[in-house]
Amino acid sequence: MYECEQCHGDSDHSKYHIPIVDESKGKKVMLHLECCPKENLIKLLHEKVESEKMFFDEALNLSENLSAENIEKFEKKFGTYDEIKQGIKIDKLVEILAIVDQLKTLS
Ligand SMILES: [Zn+2]
Repeated sequence: MYECEQCHGDSDHSKYHIPIVDESKGKKVMLHLECCPKENLIKLLHEKVESEKMFFDEALNLSENLSAENIEKFEKKFGTYDEIKQGIKIDKLVEILAIVDQLKTLS
């Protein structure tokens, strides 16, 4: 549960089950995707995809250099399966698809 900083509605007021975290004004702001300006959504999409590229590069690297130490480093950096499952960390792919879905309604 979160409150949107723009409209002060709670998470039920969004089609999406996750908020977007916008840091463009220098502080972390939780918004409904619907309340985030289009240009910020595009910028966030770009940042998140760049960060996912890094994730996949490092996952590839992990598959080629598998060791307990590398697995630990990898999970420290990107989180663990359990953290995603419990909702402690947000599944970035879901986040990216949510942004694309919202941009579809704005274009
Ligand atoms: Zn809102």
